[in-house]
Amino acid sequence: MKEVCFLRFPRLIIHTERIKYNAELITKLTQKHGISLTGVTKGACGNVAVAKAMIEGGVSSLADSRLVNLHKLRNYFGQDLSLLLLRLPALSDIEQVVEVADVSLNSEFEIIEALDRAAMQRGKKHGVILMIDLGDLREGIWPDQAIEITSKICKLKHVFLQGIGTNLTCYGGVLPTQNNLNQLVEIANEVQKKCTYQLCYISGGNSSSLYLLQEGKMPPDINHLRVGETILIGQDPALFKPFPQARRDTFTLQAELIEMKIKPSVPIGIVGRDAFGRIPAKATDKGKRLRGILAIGEQDINTDGLRPQAKGVEVLGASSDHLLIDLTDYEDEIKLGDYLSFDINYSNLLKTMTSPFVEKVVL
Ligand SMILES: *Cc1c(COP(=O)(O)O)cnc(C)c1O
Repeated sequence: MKEVCFLRFPRLIIHTERIKYNAELITKLTQKHGISLTGVTKGACGNVAVAKAMIEGGVSSLADSRLVNLHKLRNYFGQDLSLLLLRLPALSDIEQVVEVADVSLNSEFEIIEALDRAAMQRGKKHGVILMIDLGDLREGIWPDQAIEITSKICKLKHVFLQGIGTNLTCYGGVLPTQNNLNQLVEIANEVQKKCTYQLCYISGGNSSSLYLLQEGKMPPDINHLRVGETILIGQDPALFKPFPQARRDTFTLQAELIEMKIKPSVPIGIVGRDAFGRIPAKATDKGKRLRGILAIGEQDINTDGLRPQAKGVEVLGASSDHLLIDLTDYEDEIKLGDYLSFDINYSNLLKTMTSPFVEKVVL
């Protein structure tokens, strides 16, 4: 890897070639099944280098949950690229939604009507994907409301129903299956009868739906997916394991060593609560250990999803600005001012990309 020596710590190295490789991998997989793929950039805070890698890898449009990120993408890519707003539009944001997004996911008719008015005022057409809640209990209308609400949407002049969709495995942890996605297809078929024009998409979810493609269990009528996590960090959130052939070393987090001392492995004194009011887990007594502190903390990361690249480094925990590690079994030399590197999970990607304290380095 090219040595980057002129920037501050902590830093997050973004390996765009590897992200592009993942985007290619998932694009090929979805294309084979006639599925069009929207790349989701929200995990990387709408970073344009990441978005560009997704586009080069073949995704046909981009999506993000935040308007600020969509603005960044719009400014960079111009008007030709289709942008999708993932989070339900807020009434107070309607004008901006119509301005920056071509399409949005929706579940409230009152808001869809407001989008219609705003689109009329701007002489635009705005696409709506109506979300159906198939049991995960995050966004979406209940299936028995689908007909009534689509009949109303299809009468609007400046909003068009681009399709229907669902989102799973986000709040309730409900997995996409042949069964619930077939239910989505059935709803789409019913809804289509109420609409005078052809709906484009049956949008069958996020990264957690990809395993169905691999197992040959994706209902053939599902023709759209919105994928972030698997492209960004090569993880399959449904099976909770690395996605076959995808790269997981797409982002490298590096933080600097600011203390290194031999100390006991168990706190001394009456133990109350930690900096966040949590009761510390009982530490096992391993005797005296070589402990280090890295200059990064819960403000920028979660300790659970950090995978040290070097052997013999163990993450112990963190407070807001200090990450505690055990270096006793680390075999290389290390001194104050050196840094350690980590691979990261999705929540760490989200936090590091959002933290203004973490320098972003695009490779
Ligand atoms: C975040 C999100 C996605 C993408 O999820 P990944 O797990 O990153 O693939 C898709 N759809 C909606 C509605 C989302 O909020």
